[in-house]
Amino acid sequence: MALLIRNGEIVTVGSRVQADVYAENETVTTIGKNLVVPPGTEIVDATGQLVFPGFIDPHVHIYLPFMATYAKDTHETASIAALIGGTTTYIEMCCPNRNDDALAGYQLWKSKASGNSACDYAFHMSVTKFVRETESQLREIVADGTSSFKIFLAYKNFFGVDDGEMYQTLALARRLGVIVTAHCENAELVARLQEQLVAEGKTGPEWHEPSRPESVEAEGTGRFAAFLENTGAAGYVVHLSCQKALNAALAAKQRGVRLSVEVVLPHLLLDKSFAERPGVEGMKYVMSPPLRAKHNNETLWSALALGFVDTVGTDHCPFDIDQKLLGKESFVSIPNGIPGIEDRVNLLYTMGKQKRIDLDRFVDFASTRAAKLFGLFPRKGTIAIGSDADLVVFDTSYRGTVSVKTQHVNNDYNGFEGMTIEGRPSLVTVRGKVQARDGKFVGERGRGCFLKREPTHF
Ligand SMILES: [Zn+2]
Repeated sequence: MALLIRNGEIVTVGSRVQADVYAENETVTTIGKNLVVPPGTEIVDATGQLVFPGFIDPHVHIYLPFMATYAKDTHETASIAALIGGTTTYIEMCCPNRNDDALAGYQLWKSKASGNSACDYAFHMSVTKFVRETESQLREIVADGTSSFKIFLAYKNFFGVDDGEMYQTLALARRLGVIVTAHCENAELVARLQEQLVAEGKTGPEWHEPSRPESVEAEGTGRFAAFLENTGAAGYVVHLSCQKALNAALAAKQRGVRLSVEVVLPHLLLDKSFAERPGVEGMKYVMSPPLRAKHNNETLWSALALGFVDTVGTDHCPFDIDQKLLGKESFVSIPNGIPGIEDRVNLLYTMGKQKRIDLDRFVDFASTRAAKLFGLFPRKGTIAIGSDADLVVFDTSYRGTVSVKTQHVNNDYNGFEGMTIEGRPSLVTVRGKVQARDGKFVGERGRGCFLKREPTHF
């Protein structure tokens, strides 16, 4: 299997060059001008188009038992949606809860993805309690190639860990060279504020944000940073949503804490007025941390442009309208999540262009930085000799609109409905094989492989 992508503008971090890319046996083997290739090579003319490294979504939920239901996607539907949108690798949150056995949970998640994902994948292993067998189980999981953990400071009694468990997780991660990703909200404050609002009869989706205000996230972010500082572990704040939390994160970075920051698509493009729409229209926009006051959009975009924010994920998590209605009596029971795996790249490209963010930053926050942080670089996250031939030929002349009518995510609404996109992938390859073309899946289902990752944060 050989593939030549001819005469595109190859964009990687630090370089833009008009050239051909040739891949053989799943790997990029030559980059240069006017390459002569063996007969039988599949040739794609990319003249006038951009060629990006396959994009990486560092934060998705696919298999997820949560809030009395299950997220809607399968690994087949989510991976096809990802590929159509230019994402060739995702990192899924493996989320057994406190009552589950961690190792059994890890094996369950792996079995769900295995043979079903059309693109490559890895996991962040959630640590939702720290008991006698936790250390040996986590060592086994790391040895299996999963070199990042996830902790939740929110979701008390379900996914959430207490400070003691956070300390033990970080101390072990430090010894293993593993990075720990964290959902940073104060679980106790969320529980108390929810209780208070519900007691006052404030039960609509518009009360979700006031139940987890910015200060609650800032506290979680600051506390996580302090625990990193005192254990020496490397950490990563997932879905940071607002100015106050950003201040806490940047203050920590400034004093040398090993902290990276992720924002997710909904917090860049949407705001709390969406969740304030009446009834189920508002429920569609309930996620945690919640959509914030609008001024935070600009704060996050400028932090992204300046490189203060490292990556952009989605926190992809589809629940359909019927599931959202589980919360019709109270916002506390609305399944949390907004899907985005299919639209992330196109919307980031489009908005990034409007905001004059250069393509170098775009490739970095949508692909390269995640590969570097999570032990995938240089196999993923760049176009270089020896890298996997995960390539996105991007047609900047395409114009379209995001809509539930054309999406491949298994859900009955799209949170970004009606937004315009200026460009989309015309061709997407995974390890040298064409998997998507012009908004359609044309590849092999189940071809994606589990990516074994070495710990790198020593
Ligand atoms: Zn998440």
